[in-house]
Amino acid sequence: MANLILILGDQLTDTLSALEDADRQRDRVVMAEVHDEASYTNHHKKKLVLLFSAMRHFARRLEADGWTVHYQRYHPDNPHQSLEAVLADQLAATGADMIITTECGEWRLHEQISQWHERLGVPVEICPDTRFIARKDEFADWAKGKKQLRMEFFYREMRKKTGLLMTADGTPEGGQWNFDADNRKKWTGKPPAPAPFRVEPDEVTREVIALVDEHFGDHFGTTEDFHFAVTADDAQAALVHFIDYALPCFGDYQDAISDTEDWLFHSILSPYINCGLLDPLAVCEAAAQAWYSGRAPINAVEGFIRQILGWREFVRGIYWLLMPGYAKENRLGNTRDLPWFYWTGDTRMRCMHKAIDATRRNAYAHHIQRLMVTGNFALLAGVRPEAICDWYLAVYADAYDWVELPNVLGMVMHADGGYLGSKPYAASGKYIQRMSDHCAGCHYNVSEATGEKACPFNSLYWHFIDRHRADFAKNPRMTMMYRNWDRQSADKREGLIRHAEHLLERLEQL
Ligand code: FAD
Ligand code: SF4
Repeated sequence: MANLILILGDQLTDTLSALEDADRQRDRVVMAEVHDEASYTNHHKKKLVLLFSAMRHFARRLEADGWTVHYQRYHPDNPHQSLEAVLADQLAATGADMIITTECGEWRLHEQISQWHERLGVPVEICPDTRFIARKDEFADWAKGKKQLRMEFFYREMRKKTGLLMTADGTPEGGQWNFDADNRKKWTGKPPAPAPFRVEPDEVTREVIALVDEHFGDHFGTTEDFHFAVTADDAQAALVHFIDYALPCFGDYQDAISDTEDWLFHSILSPYINCGLLDPLAVCEAAAQAWYSGRAPINAVEGFIRQILGWREFVRGIYWLLMPGYAKENRLGNTRDLPWFYWTGDTRMRCMHKAIDATRRNAYAHHIQRLMVTGNFALLAGVRPEAICDWYLAVYADAYDWVELPNVLGMVMHADGGYLGSKPYAASGKYIQRMSDHCAGCHYNVSEATGEKACPFNSLYWHFIDRHRADFAKNPRMTMMYRNWDRQSADKREGLIRHAEHLLERLEQL
């Protein structure tokens, strides 16, 4: 009985569950660059290059390991433009009697795959994705009966489960679970930020760059200066680079934003972890090892591990627990379209311009730019969750529905009514001024809240607070904001609201 083993573009892991019981002599691996997957959103050009090139390298490696691989390269005239069509063709060509695959990371595709056994007329075995640290049912058990979920408590369970940064007697290393309070420094240029890890494009990548430029020219971003790793070995080298040069300062400057440095002390590993070139647990273990051997402080290592072991696993659990309804949530009742400058970066707000421009060039912006700049603005402006989710899904090299959706809809837009986060991450220009050096070079004045030169974040922040009183006034973490708002004179409040409304009417001109 021969099987087709379908490997998706974000499943580039040689220990993938679908390969576990497969037979190199008997079975055939199927991989395909198809229009349906490359175009269901306006994927950043660099994301397409990363995935197509990494897929081609991975297929070569499987062949070198003795697998038979059917690999379909992208061409707009290919007769088979969906995974289903490629599989149907391969079933006919080989007479295989079963399809085996590892569960995918998106509801959209999951729904399609669930119907394949009927549509293709052969059994389809879907193996669990063992590359995550928490199983889906394990997360669902933990979440059961809880009205709201808090990452911190889930994270502690994961620390206990893996033993990461745990002492032999079951207590957290360093005496605390979480060192976040130490991780809020502004970066003023010192110590210098390390250069990001780079791999120069090889022949395979250069060929893919030409293909993307030719056939995906209307997609967001650029292929210029592509330097991501596209093999597991190079992704491993990127991890070593991060641990040697950036991890020691990762904690201190985790929340910092810079006008001149795109990457600061972040790892830039999410594109590799999410497509399977790096294993998340192995990444955490390497970081823990750096602390045990005295190469990085505990606040950096714990903070880094929390992002992967905590946040990454937590959002994935929420996605599968609440889909498909989650994608439709809009508890704050937002109706506004996404301003066009999200696609062009053409705005006088320097913080927004810088974050969007880095996104366009790099298919990357770090977490605080995503959360407190582009995300915060969309929250304050009342953009429809669906519109801003579509943007985030399109523009980053690490974007997949399972991780993008809870981060944007839940964490940024608070559209799930606080199931994921205890309070909205709404902030005025003061926060951006405190954490960055953008404001000094901005057209707007961060110290002003009304008037033509006033920082738009300021009045929009108060407008958000005022218009959502019914949603948040009883939230203990928001009481202080409402006290501050109510303490201002009626005239001042009215002026702020009027100015914010003026801005909301002309968002495109900001
Ligand atoms: P680092 O800052 O070095 O963090 C280390 C690792 O922790 C990351 O590589 C990532 O694997 C993990 N991580 C950190 N924060 C999160 C988080 N909130 N959720 C999940 N994993 C996390 N991450 C994605 O991988 N894909 C997305 O599409 C995505 N969309 C986001 C959208 C918004 C609005 C926000 C606020 C966050 C989003 N994130 C997303 C999370 C986070 O911003 C990125 O993982 C991170 O910026 C990737 O860069 P890095 O590898 O340098 O991360
Ligand atoms: Fe951003 Fe306002 Fe600062 Fe300009 S003044 S950079 S808009 S926070």
